[in-house]
Amino acid sequence: MKDYSEIQCPNCSGKILINPKLLLQGGSFRCTNQACGVSVSLSSKSNQVTDSAMKEFETLKKEQY
Ligand SMILES: [Zn+2]
Repeated sequence: MKDYSEIQCPNCSGKILINPKLLLQGGSFRCTNQACGVSVSLSSKSNQVTDSAMKEFETLKKEQY
């Protein structure tokens, strides 16, 4: 199973790789674009981002089975 989910950065439209498990445990993940530096976590304002990432993750899981 894929541990990481790729979401689009709300700031620079770059990639952010998140691990949904770690995210749920309160982890935060940083945009891969070093010049951007946006990070997402469940407790931050970027809830919409993480929300859609989780949905995407659920979809990925369903596709696996
Ligand atoms: Zn970014």
